[in-house]
Amino acid sequence: MIKALIVGLWTTLRHFFSRSVTLEYPEQKWTPPDRFRGRHIHLTNEERKPLCVACGLCEKVCPSGCITIESEKNPDGPGKVVTDYRINYLRCCFCGLCVEVCPKNAIVMGHEYELASEDKESLIMNLDQLLDKRMKSENQ
Ligand code: SF4
Ligand code: SF4
Repeated sequence: MIKALIVGLWTTLRHFFSRSVTLEYPEQKWTPPDRFRGRHIHLTNEERKPLCVACGLCEKVCPSGCITIESEKNPDGPGKVVTDYRINYLRCCFCGLCVEVCPKNAIVMGHEYELASEDKESLIMNLDQLLDKRMKSENQ
């Protein structure tokens, strides 16, 4: 009984003086690990055009059915160009299958995790919102 009390007090004291593992969110932000699966990013080429060729594989593989792709015939050659690409984050489970299946490596899972919103519509993101903004601003 006494021994258990001492062990319990010792454990409490040890944790009281050890470094905290929690963050004071939202003042303190968490840095996700490299392999974290957050909001998607559509990558672009040097002309700032999406690498996506609208093949539709990601749309087919998505277990949540939350990807919608719109495309048109490529005016400059064979194939199609993507005109819109929507992900419904109300349904996405961040499994990453869409990224794995992409033959062009056109999409990646980013590190953004602050996706809470009071507006459901804002969680259905279009191609412009998903494009790589870092690359866009660097080239502008
Ligand atoms: S991460 Fe998974 S659920 Fe989300 S869009 Fe990609 S395939 Fe669908
Ligand atoms: S699998 Fe890749 S190339 Fe095909 S539609 Fe999806 S993002 Fe575009």
